[in-house]
Amino acid sequence: MLWHNAVKRNANMELGRPMDWQQFLADRLAQLKQEGRYRVFADLTRHAGDFPHATRHAASGPRPVTVWCSNDYLGMGQHPGVIGAMKQALDDVGAGSGGTRNISGTNHYHVLLERELADLHGKEAGLLFTSGYISNEAAIGTLGQVLPGCVIFSDALNHASIIQGIRLSRAEKRIFRHNDPGDLERMLGETNPDLPRLVVFESVYSMDGDIAPIAELCDVAERHDALTYLDEVHAVGLYGPGGGGVAEREGVMDRVTIIEGTLGKAFGVMGGYIASSGTIVDAVRSFASGFIFTTSLSPVLAAGALASIRHVRRAGELRERHQRQAARLKRLLAGAGLPVMPSVSHIVPVLVGDAARCKAVSDALLEEHAIYVQPINYPTVQRGSERLRFTPSPLHSDEMIDELVYALDRVWRQMDLPRLAWVAA
Ligand SMILES: *Cc1c(COP(=O)(O)O)cnc(C)c1O
Repeated sequence: MLWHNAVKRNANMELGRPMDWQQFLADRLAQLKQEGRYRVFADLTRHAGDFPHATRHAASGPRPVTVWCSNDYLGMGQHPGVIGAMKQALDDVGAGSGGTRNISGTNHYHVLLERELADLHGKEAGLLFTSGYISNEAAIGTLGQVLPGCVIFSDALNHASIIQGIRLSRAEKRIFRHNDPGDLERMLGETNPDLPRLVVFESVYSMDGDIAPIAELCDVAERHDALTYLDEVHAVGLYGPGGGGVAEREGVMDRVTIIEGTLGKAFGVMGGYIASSGTIVDAVRSFASGFIFTTSLSPVLAAGALASIRHVRRAGELRERHQRQAARLKRLLAGAGLPVMPSVSHIVPVLVGDAARCKAVSDALLEEHAIYVQPINYPTVQRGSERLRFTPSPLHSDEMIDELVYALDRVWRQMDLPRLAWVAA
């Protein structure tokens, strides 16, 4: 209906004038601003070695901030071993890859990294993409297209890149209730067992911090001979004894057909991947447009990711401290009666429930307390569930956590925001 309103306001046609499409777009942006959903990027300079501190370039000049919403969950983007590997690669092989994977752009770092990723997930093969987004879009888009008559079963809260992959595949889509194996079972039972079926879900859902019942979903998929595709983007590096993700922690990696991950979050660099059987990886490699027709990842990024994964696989202590700091923040927030949502992961969402107020809280934290947390609004989360999403890392000290809770408590009081009784209980 927004479109129609805008079109009406621009109804120049009736007056015999051409439609003003620039004005149309300006109206759409004005609407976003009015709803408090207009995205304003924080202009940051991060300081290698001083994670999670950064300098924010504000209108009034540069200001120090503590970053509380980075997906560089372990600070690996500033790890000396990662930086060293990248400097070395840059000196050794130069800046870019020089081509698509097929036409001169396969660097030895890519090959080593794909082997490492396959090994990380106990799979036969791995395949690199330029981002996690592209890996979902390309892999799901290709499998749904190449498997004849494929039906894709998708969790209701799946990420935008998964939804985009399903669209691209033009396969039939069935959406099952979030984390509900019973609903999936019912839906699978209604489809033709002779058709290929692909069940797509995530392990850690990054906005609520809840975790999928992977084993139960695999039980259901196996009963119906369906393939499974698991997005472990918010879990790789962080869960499991070797950082292989939640599926590793629960001993079910071998039951998941395809595991997808990113090199840009816990591994702190950039890029995405899938790990699966040799045949499935070969099919995506051979048929996926988003893999084939694009310049491959810079070898510098591949070298950095490789160094990061090798380090993180052995860094059980770092994973433990990560979980400890997240648990500490949740405990202190709940103790102060602040509406922390019931996350079972490292993600700490605090409910505000209104886009404009969410932005106002974020602004107050930034301006008055040098704390940076981005407001999360629709369409990333549902309207009415707007929130702040904190991502404490092993490098956020106890003192930083104390400061954050103190600041939030003050802002909550100043703005007279609700404190939920169920939280403290
Ligand atoms: C961030 C994200 C991606 C995309 O990964 P990038 O490497 O950032 O492109 C995919 N899936 C989920 C669930 C994500 O949150």
